[in-house]
Amino acid sequence: TRPGITMNDCPESAQVHRADFADIREAKIVKGRSINLALSHRGRQALKQVGMEDTIVSKGIPMHSRMIHSLNGTQSPIPYGKKGQVTLLMQRLDTPHSAETYSTTKLNFAHKLLNWSTETGAMTFLRADGAKEEIQADLIVGCDGAFSAIRKQFLRQSRFNFSQTYIPHGYLELTMPPINGEFAMKPNYLHIWPRNTFMMIALPNLDKTFTCTLFMPFDEFENVTTGDQVIEFFQKYFPDTIPLIGADALKRDYFRLPAQAMVSVKCSPYHLSDKCVLMGDAAHAVVPFYGQGMNAGFEDCLVFNEIMDQLNEDFSAVLPEYTRVRVPDDHAIADLAMYNYVEMRSHVNSKWFLFRKYVDNTLHMIMPRTVIPLYTMVTFTRIRYHEAVKRWHWQDKVRHYIVHSSLYKGL
Ligand SMILES: Cc1cc2nc3c(=O)[nH]c(=O)nc-3n(C[C@H](O)[C@H](O)[C@H](O)COP(=O)(O)OP(=O)(O)OC[C@H]3O[C@@H](n4cnc5c(N)ncnc54)[C@H](O)[C@@H]3O)c2cc1C
Repeated sequence: TRPGITMNDCPESAQVHRADFADIREAKIVKGRSINLALSHRGRQALKQVGMEDTIVSKGIPMHSRMIHSLNGTQSPIPYGKKGQVTLLMQRLDTPHSAETYSTTKLNFAHKLLNWSTETGAMTFLRADGAKEEIQADLIVGCDGAFSAIRKQFLRQSRFNFSQTYIPHGYLELTMPPINGEFAMKPNYLHIWPRNTFMMIALPNLDKTFTCTLFMPFDEFENVTTGDQVIEFFQKYFPDTIPLIGADALKRDYFRLPAQAMVSVKCSPYHLSDKCVLMGDAAHAVVPFYGQGMNAGFEDCLVFNEIMDQLNEDFSAVLPEYTRVRVPDDHAIADLAMYNYVEMRSHVNSKWFLFRKYVDNTLHMIMPRTVIPLYTMVTFTRIRYHEAVKRWHWQDKVRHYIVHSSLYKGL
């Protein structure tokens, strides 16, 4: 649900306001905050399992390729994978709650978790009317995001590993309006303006706008303090976007919100006895450069469900097994997202990168089972993330060998 709505992720405050932890479908959208998410194979498989794939996918915009915008305004597409391999762009707010259709499910919004007991499993919530409510649960599934209140109790346990890393970049979002009721740029692409140490991307929305996200070191954001400096900066690095966003809107919207921080969180184990388990960003917040955060969270549910089936829903066996299986994969996607943070803003500019992509795709065509490009493994398959990384390193060696021996023979 984050971070497009007015919800308070900070459990410290002793108050819960009406908008805090509210029903996402009724929450107010904050202009300049992200509302779209790329949904790919892993997320779709989880949705399929709960009978929601078609409903959700029908509301998505398919994206086939990256579109690289160079400084001189030329645009060159880099397809993601084979024909038919698409990522779907979803609106965060447009998703119905299928859980609501089950008579055994009760959704409580505007309940802020204050604390819970690792001994009894009792949870204390603060309601919007100021009253506290205690709830006892057989199993607590902590899906309360990167700054998880549930995870706080894990930090007090011996042998719980935890790390969090803020990257030096922040992000800021701008809106590119439609032109004559149509998208201002080609809609079925992830548009990228890679500029080495920073970049901008643009993703289409159902209302024919694009959300443009500028990722840049905080220091650089601090150097741009006036409307004229914004225009000067865009003139230098993203000149083609000025007429599309509009100079006045750019000057205004750039300062609407401060740049937002991005954090990567790793921890282990994901469970605490047979009482509590972490999923989604609470277990593994990743930087957004692989478009996998939500997908990995959805896959957590799928893996958990598979293990529940295998182990006859015995929580004392399921929870440790879920940790064993899932931790290496989530840690791998956290690392890959960090890797893509450099690839997207810098490598896509290089001829060597494009050549490597070409060799990978050619090898994949010749040996589709043996060589699979990393992006394809991550985005369009359910190959475990950590296995995808292993295969990638192995494939890298094979490619290296082929390229170098061809060059040698050519000489
Ligand atoms: C700029 C950006 C772009 C992204 N793009 C993509 C993308 O394209 N594709 C993709 O797969 N992922 C993307 N992500 C990642 C994705 O947004 C997250 O991985 C996903 O939202 C995590 O879902 P979650 O349910 O685990 O946590 P959250 O979405 O953070 O939800 C946590 C929920 O817990 C509630 N909560 C928190 N504390 C408490 C408390 N004390 N009591 C009660 N409730 C509480 C919050 O209100 C919230 O509703 C992006 C992230 C960012 C920042």
